[in-house]
Amino acid sequence: MKGAQQTTLRDQAAVSGIGVHSGLPVTLTLNPAGDDEGIVFRRVSAHGSIEREIRADVRAVTATEFATVLGDSSGPLCSTAEHLLATLRGLYVDNVVVEIDGPEVPIMDGSAAAFVDAVDQAGLTARAQPRRYIEVIKPVRVSAKDGAFGELRPYSHGFRVEAEIEFDHPLIGKQALALDIEPNTFRREIARARTFGFMRDVAKLWSAGYALGANFDNTLVISEDRVLNPEGLRFADEFVRHKVLDAIGDLALAGQPLLAAYRTVRGGHKLNHSVLSALMADPSAWRVVEAAEAAEPARRRRPHAGFAAGLVAPAYGPEVS
Ligand SMILES: [Zn+2]
Repeated sequence: MKGAQQTTLRDQAAVSGIGVHSGLPVTLTLNPAGDDEGIVFRRVSAHGSIEREIRADVRAVTATEFATVLGDSSGPLCSTAEHLLATLRGLYVDNVVVEIDGPEVPIMDGSAAAFVDAVDQAGLTARAQPRRYIEVIKPVRVSAKDGAFGELRPYSHGFRVEAEIEFDHPLIGKQALALDIEPNTFRREIARARTFGFMRDVAKLWSAGYALGANFDNTLVISEDRVLNPEGLRFADEFVRHKVLDAIGDLALAGQPLLAAYRTVRGGHKLNHSVLSALMADPSAWRVVEAAEAAEPARRRRPHAGFAAGLVAPAYGPEVS
């Protein structure tokens, strides 16, 4: 659904699996929602009764260690929301109620593929209200140690992510990817990239209570010199693609789609969250626009872009920056 109107799901769709950190079984159901409801997480009991509800929003982030956790003053509501959030943003699902009967979104195969399938199964429908975007009008940058940083800057052609990672590991080393994010590029280039972890970190993670559900079916596991999963990599640079997936999910917590370019260098959930929080804290750095307004600069410069004509920003192929 590439229109300038807000969207929701046509029908329900359910996904069941286990949490990568908790190891607990969980069922998640995506439900249609009304205009301007955004992405709402609703915790339900095993019998289906509603326990608690929060809107997925940058202020609802309660932890960013190894995964993005959403909650409120009464505690965490659900963990590891980022791959689902990335899917909803990547496929332009504006309004949805996510019912979840456990503490963690299921990890599935470690990528967003199962959530893409669920959205496709439910289908999308356009609503009456125009989609509203958060347009970044001034760069906002947050630096961390060892040269890591994240920066949002104005970008007139939609939403773009530029990611660089560097790991002291022969299989990964330096990887970079820059991509305009719209449904086609999200599906093709990003959605199937899996979570990865190093064998050398497993004992440490387990003793801290993380990665209890991790296995070769849901995590790319890397030893000193190779991928231990028998099927190998889905993309030669699957690692940086997964970083892009995580960044899309973390930035979906802006609450509305961003019109911006996001550059992340050696970043992670924590830095993504810090940059988004810094943006929101500076009202002179962004404004809310509707699709037609958002189109103006892009249309002048690129006659074929046409947000207002009901199209999205043009899709570019992947390019290494
Ligand atoms: Zn991830």
